[in-house]
Formats: sequence, structure tokens, C-alpha cells
Amino acid sequence: MNAILKERREQVLIAGNGQPAAMACEKPSAAGSVSQRACVFCGSRVVLYPISDALHLVHGPIGCAAYTWDIRGSLSSGRQLHRMSFCTDMRENEIIHGGEKKLYNALCELITRYKPNGAFVYATCIAGLIGDDIDAVCKRVAHEFAISVLPVHSEGFKGSKKDGYRAACDALDTLIGSGPTGDVSPFSINILGDFNLAGETWMIREYYRRMGVEVVSVCTGDGRIEEIKRAHGARLNVVQCSGSMKHLAKRMRERFGIPSIQVSYFGIEDTAKALYDVADFFKNPNISRRTQELVAAETKAVMSRIKEIRTQTQGKRAAIYVGGAFKAFSLVKALRMLGMKTAVVGSQTGTPEDYDVLKSICDPGTIIVDDSNPRELASFIIEKNVDLFIGGVKERPMAYKLGIGFVDHNHERKIALAGFKGMLNFCEEVAATVLSPVWNLVPRRKGKTDEPPSP
Ligand code: SF4
Repeated sequence: MNAILKERREQVLIAGNGQPAAMACEKPSAAGSVSQRACVFCGSRVVLYPISDALHLVHGPIGCAAYTWDIRGSLSSGRQLHRMSFCTDMRENEIIHGGEKKLYNALCELITRYKPNGAFVYATCIAGLIGDDIDAVCKRVAHEFAISVLPVHSEGFKGSKKDGYRAACDALDTLIGSGPTGDVSPFSINILGDFNLAGETWMIREYYRRMGVEVVSVCTGDGRIEEIKRAHGARLNVVQCSGSMKHLAKRMRERFGIPSIQVSYFGIEDTAKALYDVADFFKNPNISRRTQELVAAETKAVMSRIKEIRTQTQGKRAAIYVGGAFKAFSLVKALRMLGMKTAVVGSQTGTPEDYDVLKSICDPGTIIVDDSNPRELASFIIEKNVDLFIGGVKERPMAYKLGIGFVDHNHERKIALAGFKGMLNFCEEVAATVLSPVWNLVPRRKGKTDEPPSP
């Protein structure tokens, strides 16, 4: 625990030691702490990126666009426009004389060439600093081309990734309510907060189809502009990634009276609960029966293999560091199913309530951390001698440098982790990495810190 900066002492707690204080979270990162958080622009980009029939235009220097180019593996069942990284490439000329003209020309050229169903224009730090009026440009282009052109106020300096989620929700909010809803079923939902990284949206949609529930729109996995426009026709918002989508769910409740529930599709227990909660909302006997049958069949299909894996992973220790804390809750439970212990758990954007939940579900002695940095995480991992690190793209190199197994639970993974089948995929992946003999060759494991392993 020596690696903790003085300013951050109240952002690290130990479960079960009777600390009554709430986590001192939801604040700007401490100066000198290399936060794992990303900027506002990045936050909005990751939320809107999976809308695959929209044009995504970054109004800023090329570096901002390169930073978020193809940032997550959101699969599309149709167009792939989201995978292009369009940028106005602002340079000295625009910074001195303004970039609105270049933005207007870029939008006109791209809309003419690619014929998108809508467009998002992301403001970056520079666009915000020089005061370009992107709202006016978007309005003009929307009028001229008769499509939705939405400004995303995501100037990077305005806060952290979490503020970017809000900017993205505000942009979606302007889109919702403009499509027809006459044919929407009374048993209908929107899926909020799934991004179809590796096909999860398709798996979840299939569950709801089998239950007899219509999915009106997904925000934003495999998302489509026309579907999102009619999202206000759904009877319920089912929110998975609460950090990114709770603002949109709140806006839809205020504007259209649509209630929301919070769910997780990670883990057998949480997926079953998510589906039962949706079925309970509709109070329809047929939906309830189909849901019970679905949960029973899907659980049976994966449980024997999971139990087999558990015999090998029992007693291993893990560290978790993720964006939103809600994901961490499910991961703690999923690891427990494998007989593994969570020794370190943290998030970039958790709330005091989230950390209270973590304190209540973690074993005594677990380190719980908010907005951590590589130095702290590395010291916790060594102190707790973990076998596995679950995190995102920024945590992967840290895990490998420390000589421990890694499982990507974020943008870059290629294997779906949602639902019943996803839990089996997760268990297989955890076992494959923690049981690899390669970790026995790590000098630290051999009791040496400065010598290569002997041949
Ligand atoms: S912090 Fe600013 S300059 Fe850096 S990527 Fe974000 S928007 Fe671009």
C-alpha cells in the first residue's frame, strides 16, 4: 500500500475492516496520478461508435481521431461506416481562422459520398478552445441534406470519460422521438448499454425473441439511426452499462414516461435475473413461462463444463479493474462461481453507492480502489500475489509485464462474454490463462526478481 499518493488515500478501502467512511470518489484525478481514465471525447466516442449506419466525424486534430480509430470491436450486421475514422484534421490555419468552413465542407463531401442515415460531429479540445459553432454547422447541413446531423459536445478538457457518456446520451436524446411507433408491441424494450463488442447484442436479442419480447432499439450495439428514432415507442428501458446510459434512461423517463431497470448479462445468475426481471415487468404468463424454459435450458447446457473448470481454478486469486463499477459486481460473482477469490477490485468511475455494494460482496481483506493508476495497481497485484488480472486495453501490458494471466473484459475482446454461453466462454478463457505453465517461468514466481529464469 506504499504506492498510494497522499491525496488518494481516501480512494482506497479494504473490505471487511470496519471502515465506515464512504469512498471519496467522483472527483477529478489527482495531479501526478496517471489515471486510467480517458477524456470526454473518448467517452462519447465509445458510446456512439457502434451506430454503424451513421457518419462519425471528429472535428479536431488528427491525433484525436487516431486515438479512437476503431476503438472497440463493435460488430455490425449491416453497414460498416462506423469503422472509418473521419476527421477534419484541424491545423494552424483553422486554429487561427476558425474551423467551421472546413467542418461544413467535410460534412457535405462525406454525406454525398457515403450517404449515411445520420451523422455525429464530435467536438474535441481544440474545437472547444477556439469556439467553433458546431451546432450551427450541423443545423445547416441537416437542413440541406434532410438527415439528422448531431453535434456531440465532447471537448476533451471538460472532465473525464464519464462526462463523455453524458454528451453521447444528450446527442441520442435529440434523435429519440422522431420516428414512427405505431407498430411497436406492448411487450417491447430498448436495450441500453450493450455495445456488441463480439456479438453480445445478437445473443441478448435472441433471448428476448424467444421470450416474446420485441427489442425496439439497442443503444448502441449494432445500432441503427432509424431504430433509435423510434426508441420512445418501447415500454421499458433495460439498462446494462449504467455508467454510460443512466443519463439517457433518466431523460427518456422524463420525456416519454418510460421506466427503466438495471441489469447485467454477465454471469449465469445475473443473466437469469435480468431476463426474469423483464418478464416480471410485463406480467404476461406466456412470457414468464418461456423465460423459465429458456433459463433452465441455457443453464443446463453450460453448467457441467463450468463445474469441471472450477475444479482446476479453485483457490486462484484475481484482480479486477474496469470502467464502470457495475461490471465489477458481476465479475466478483462470476469468479466466485469458479472458486476464485477477488483480491483487488476497482473502477474508473464508480459512485459511493457502487463502492458500498463492492464492500458488501467482497471477501474481507479485498482492496477496493477508485480511479487507480498503474503504480498503485502494480503494487496491489504484487502484494496480493494474484494469478489473474481482468481489465481493459490499458491494463493488459501491466499484467504481462508483471507475469500474470490477463482477461480482456473491455473494448478489444473477440469472444462474447454475455449470457449463459458467454459465461462459459469467460470460464474457458480464465482457465486457459491462469492455468498456463508459462507463469511458472516468471522470475517473481521463482523467488527471483532480477535474474532470468534458468533454462
Ligand atoms: S484530450 Fe482533447 S486533444 Fe486529447 S484526445 Fe481528448 S479531445 Fe483530443
